[in-house]
Amino acid sequence: MHPIKISSTPKKEWASRNALVCPFCRQHVSLDTLDDVQDVYATGKHLLLGHRRCPNPACEGHIFVVTNQFGYVVKSYPPSAVAFDRDSIPEAVLAAFDEAVVCHANECYVASAIMIRKTLEEICADRGAEGKDLKARIDALKDVVILPPDFLTGMHDLRALGNDGAHVELKTFPRVSRKETLTAIQVTKVLLAGVYQFASMMTMMNTLKGSADSGDDEDSTKSSFDSPSHGSADGGAGYIRNH
Ligand SMILES: [Zn+2]
Repeated sequence: MHPIKISSTPKKEWASRNALVCPFCRQHVSLDTLDDVQDVYATGKHLLLGHRRCPNPACEGHIFVVTNQFGYVVKSYPPSAVAFDRDSIPEAVLAAFDEAVVCHANECYVASAIMIRKTLEEICADRGAEGKDLKARIDALKDVVILPPDFLTGMHDLRALGNDGAHVELKTFPRVSRKETLTAIQVTKVLLAGVYQFASMMTMMNTLKGSADSGDDEDSTKSSFDSPSHGSADGGAGYIRNH
């Protein structure tokens, strides 16, 4: 591996707000630059190395970034990860899924696949979906979640989630790719939303309907995200990136 040669004279105009999914709060954000910490210019590679801060007031995580001249984040540490909504997800399920996402972000796809399976096991245990193996337990979820039955059946076709019979066949995982684990993560996000967040969404919609019926025009766009300030429509922080 060749070292990155650096210069102490970065091109100031490159040090823009860089967009990524924050590795700490999992929100789409445009990172803040730090006034008192200068970026470093990587000679010959047209890259900037710098420190940034998550603008989410509930997070303010410190992130090291490598960006190109267009502000695109080439690398970050900790690495950016798949965004997801933590709202209403039980602690055990959240811990397993968060680890799956972190493993994927760190290119540990086998570990990610195993943690996705653990997430599914935790969901089934939490909702009382029983069966002789994971396939049977996922099938049992049909009775307790609001999702198309074909969606749950289709989950068995994902190799990262696939049918393992009575025991986990770890020999399957070495062939799991980045794309397969990413798809499994996205599918699990939908499952989490159906199991834990659909009801709260309906409550929010009914609240909006009630406000409309009563002529209450108060801003009811309060977010369901864990950050109390996330989704603010005031434009003040403006840290949420459109996507
Ligand atoms: Zn953050």
